[in-house]
Amino acid sequence: MRIGILAVQGAFALHKEILEDLGAECVELRQASDIHNLDGLVLPGGESTVQGKLIRELQMYDKLKELIDNGIPTLATCAGLILLAKEISNDENVYLATLPVTVKRNAYGRQLGSFNKVDMFKDIGDFEMTFIRAPYIEQVGNAKVLAKVDDKVVAVQYKNQLGLAFHPEMGNDNRIHKYFLQMCSR
Ligand code: GLN
Repeated sequence: MRIGILAVQGAFALHKEILEDLGAECVELRQASDIHNLDGLVLPGGESTVQGKLIRELQMYDKLKELIDNGIPTLATCAGLILLAKEISNDENVYLATLPVTVKRNAYGRQLGSFNKVDMFKDIGDFEMTFIRAPYIEQVGNAKVLAKVDDKVVAVQYKNQLGLAFHPEMGNDNRIHKYFLQMCSR
């Protein structure tokens, strides 16, 4: 199994560690020519404005969008979720626009910039979720809700795309990555 992890900016390193521990081969995607022969894609947290700008400048945008539209299993976290969203309610930017949800950036305000919360993740159970200047999902369209925290949707699945507002790679729990690898092996 060969997983491409977008590595132009942000929190990609721990995803790589976890996925390699689980037996996957990982490729850091730093330029357009890195994007080939992939069974899965990870869009990590970081700064969506920076990542969005870089994937265009590095001519990675079209390849990534085509892969996702064609059904490659995609795990997107935090800034990655923002890159996938069809709409950002408090920002006029739109990036890959493959996931039919509306997200709100930096949705928890300054004081609650970062926090952890244990809550139910569908089919997995209690999961410790780490939020860092996180978005949440305001409108889910016809995506399936996988997790809610304090009544806000923080994880969805739409076909091949898993969109999480939190960082599943922080905290010693690889069950979401396992679930993602199962999607990749189908
Ligand atoms: N606040 C960041 C953004 O808007 C996301 C933060 C994160 O990925 N942890 O892009």
